[in-house]
Amino acid sequence: MSPITSREIRLVSRPQGMPTEANFDLAQTEVEPLQDGQVLVRNLYMSVDPYMRGRMNEGKSYVPPFELGKPLEGGAVGEVIESRTPAFNPGDIVTSSLGWREYFIASPEALHLVKDNIQPLSVYLGTLGMTGMTAWAGLTMVEVKAGDAIFISGAAGAVGSVAGQLAKLRGCRVIGTAGSTEKIRFLKEECGFDEAFNYKTQPVLEQLQQAAPEGIDVYFDNVGGEMLEAALATLRVHGRIIACGSISAYNATSPQPGPTNLFNVTTKRLTMKGLIVGDWLDRRNEFEQEVGDYFRAGQLKHEETVVNGIEQAVGAFIGLFEGKNTGKMVVKLT
Ligand code: NDP
Repeated sequence: MSPITSREIRLVSRPQGMPTEANFDLAQTEVEPLQDGQVLVRNLYMSVDPYMRGRMNEGKSYVPPFELGKPLEGGAVGEVIESRTPAFNPGDIVTSSLGWREYFIASPEALHLVKDNIQPLSVYLGTLGMTGMTAWAGLTMVEVKAGDAIFISGAAGAVGSVAGQLAKLRGCRVIGTAGSTEKIRFLKEECGFDEAFNYKTQPVLEQLQQAAPEGIDVYFDNVGGEMLEAALATLRVHGRIIACGSISAYNATSPQPGPTNLFNVTTKRLTMKGLIVGDWLDRRNEFEQEVGDYFRAGQLKHEETVVNGIEQAVGAFIGLFEGKNTGKMVVKLT
């Protein structure tokens, strides 16, 4: 059999501010022959995620930085093409963190078998994957319950749209914000949000207080900055904040100021909890059961924005910072 060629995306320079295509290279490699104990996987979909921006900087954060000249890494779902271990068979569908390439060889520990093959398989990168689990973990972490009023920023994205729908299923009043008229329609009409507003058209605080005149109990923060400040001002006594992300600052070239009204944490006895989804892996079965049941029952909508071909992956990644996606941004590789 002639060797398989695979394309992969490498980081060639560290972005300053917003990443550009010049920070990346699309390279071609030959896949090595398979050894005993190894599995050859062809990726079908790969994920682009905002957290990857942090890994493009130098210096360790909660995950090590991407190395220059090496392929990037990220969530992917693929099909086993060849296996030299009894753990996997050709045709098996697997998830891994070896995206940004068309083919790869791995040992079984690097793969997670997808058992029920829900279509499209990209759902395992979104609602039933890492971003869905982030939404579920965030709500679970601060014990979101019936009757809570919850405000979600970045609401029309992968995490936000699932968080809002799960909060509705838990009996909450859900308020979301996103950056376009179409996204606001999506939140209200397709995800069932009670209120949604476009943060680009009027000040966030003004719109949030109109949407929640009696205040909010929970803030699911995907954005930071002005959103966090508005939420701090609107939270009720004993309110909770899920500190999930801060996308408004990921491309900043200098440290961003904190909220001017942080003293609300004291006066309102607020709780702010940081979330890293990787800490929740031991509860993955629980997540897959609960969210999977909602999904199979048609109670949870999986929205995604799909771009085609690995050569479009960098553009898809940059698009996250320009609001180009509704729901999960994924790249289809076949
Ligand atoms: P999304 O699918 O939400 O995509 C990003 C969206 O963010 C864009 O579509 C855009 O929508 C919005 N956005 C971009 N720039 C800005 C800005 N300056 N101000 C306000 N909104 C902006 O991404 P994810 O759902 O994957 O991630 C959402 C957040 O959750 C991110 O902060 C991410 O880092 C974080 N996260 C954290 C995890 C954890 O373990 N803590 C795990 C996964 C994600 P719009 O059109 O509305 O502007």
